[in-house]
Amino acid sequence: MKNEATADQGKKTFVLKGIGVSPGVVIGKVYRFDPLDAQISFYKLHDASLIPAEIERFKKALKESTRQLLEIQEKLKKTKVTEPLYIIDVHILILSDKKFVNRTIKYIQRLGVNAEWAVRMTLDHYKQIFEDVEDPYIRGRISDVQYVSQRVLRNLTGEKGEIVWEVGHDGVVIVSHDLSPADTAQMKLDKVIGFATDSGGRTSHTAIVARSMELPAVVGLDSVTRFVRTGDEIIVDGNSGLVVINPYPDMLKRYEEKRRHLDAAKDEYLKYAKLPATTLDQYRIRIGSNIEFIEEIPSAILHGAEHIGLYRTEFIYIYREDLPSEEDHYNNYCQVLTEKSLEWATIRTFDLGGDKFPNYQKQAKELNPQMGLRAIRFCLKEVELFKTQLRAIWRAGAVGKVKILFPMISCIEEIREAKRLLEETRRELLAEGQKIADSMEIGIMIEVPAAAMIADQLAREVDYFSIGTNDLIQYALAIDRSNERVTYLYEPLHPAVLRLIKKIVDTAHEAGIRVAMCGEMAGDPMFSLILLGMQLDEFSMNHLAIPRIKRIIQQSTLAEAKELMEKAMTFNNAEDVRAYVQDYMFRRFPDEFQKKEE
Ligand code: PEP
Ligand code: MG
Repeated sequence: MKNEATADQGKKTFVLKGIGVSPGVVIGKVYRFDPLDAQISFYKLHDASLIPAEIERFKKALKESTRQLLEIQEKLKKTKVTEPLYIIDVHILILSDKKFVNRTIKYIQRLGVNAEWAVRMTLDHYKQIFEDVEDPYIRGRISDVQYVSQRVLRNLTGEKGEIVWEVGHDGVVIVSHDLSPADTAQMKLDKVIGFATDSGGRTSHTAIVARSMELPAVVGLDSVTRFVRTGDEIIVDGNSGLVVINPYPDMLKRYEEKRRHLDAAKDEYLKYAKLPATTLDQYRIRIGSNIEFIEEIPSAILHGAEHIGLYRTEFIYIYREDLPSEEDHYNNYCQVLTEKSLEWATIRTFDLGGDKFPNYQKQAKELNPQMGLRAIRFCLKEVELFKTQLRAIWRAGAVGKVKILFPMISCIEEIREAKRLLEETRRELLAEGQKIADSMEIGIMIEVPAAAMIADQLAREVDYFSIGTNDLIQYALAIDRSNERVTYLYEPLHPAVLRLIKKIVDTAHEAGIRVAMCGEMAGDPMFSLILLGMQLDEFSMNHLAIPRIKRIIQQSTLAEAKELMEKAMTFNNAEDVRAYVQDYMFRRFPDEFQKKEE
């Protein structure tokens, strides 16, 4: 399945969904590998006297193929990657299989075709036989005959085919229609960081080999090879089975974060992930996951998400050039909401604009998109588009617990208007006799400083707040979150940011509503205690960060967190706050922070 949009640099962004068969997240450059690229010629032998030489040529190619496979096996024996050894054994057997060999020779003799053509015909013959086999595992084994045939063909055409050895630069993701064990096994591990293939399933060779090499891999992508060229930027998310080609800067950043948290998602941490984030003195923070795609949900649950705290629905728009219909929205939301192990899902209405899909067709180019017609502002201008989404959220609320979240609210009129439209759609749906949620909690993202300043007034309008620190920091400190030149100034521990957060939390609690945080700050273990000290009710984060954050909370007390927070807030500059917090966290949780932060 393919989702596309146009990335900033003019290159198209594609998001493809396949099967994640080897976990982990990598970001790198594509190396397009196609073993079938070899230019194969097919011709008739114009004289019968040429036949013996052609058979000889075929036999030589068989011999050469066997020799190559044995050589690869020898090399493999010296490495830790042993899995492919046995599969290569099977391939060597096929090369000497009488039926495979004799059938090919028969084609050369009887039809007077060249050896390449004869091999192709033999392969087609086997394909037909395998297609009729019911057992999917056996049916899938046609790939073995295919790999062997490809190797023989490459040897016939004089192409030695060990192309991957020539991968020019480091950090490449191999993208191919399929990969034989021999292809994968001989790649230089220090250069290859992941795989993405059109075909294959959980038990395919690429999957087995990738797992034994501990490299992230997504297979069964159907047509990834059609969308990439060598040198394209690519993200392979082996946990969620997603591949992103030419990602937006925004997506890239989020995946870099995910990668940073991978250590924390390893087995040793997973045992804490299922337990609640309750401190030693019994203060519990609910932990949710941020998602962009529904495919991330199984991994989110595995890593300890109790709910979805932020579903960035604008990613539904990357699916298409045309607009998603109400049914498209509805189907997506139902998939999240029917997930039994999640307590609820927070659906954020779309946040188009800013750094998200800047070239989206309905939006004009703006000089300053972060401060432009973005998020709720855009929705309130494009009312029909907005109402389509609101209708779908109401309807999906009939199948599971949903909370709605409006982004980028900066004044009371915006939330009132959003609520008015929400109520209008509710009435319309009821009049149509549609099944909808009985009720729905309404929340707003507090991510504009103006909203923080009028939080007391906004709190009267809604059921909960969710603090979006990614934007809150950018607007509070006047730092474009996607501008690398000012990244060094992007400091969550800036006293102004801490005061804003504290003010939001305290105001929410005074008004008797809950307050969550769903910005990246919530998923950074360095900030766990200071935020705990402020007594947030919920954190939502990239799911790979959850196990480590839970672990820190489980080992802490609310009392110490409050003390740390109060002390941190006495400093008048970010540098001193950071020095203090870092020093405390390193000493308090040596195992958690050892080396991982560097
Ligand atoms: C935020 O701004 O902190 C947030 C969670 O929203 P997004 O990153 O999607 O803008
Ligand atoms: Mg935001």
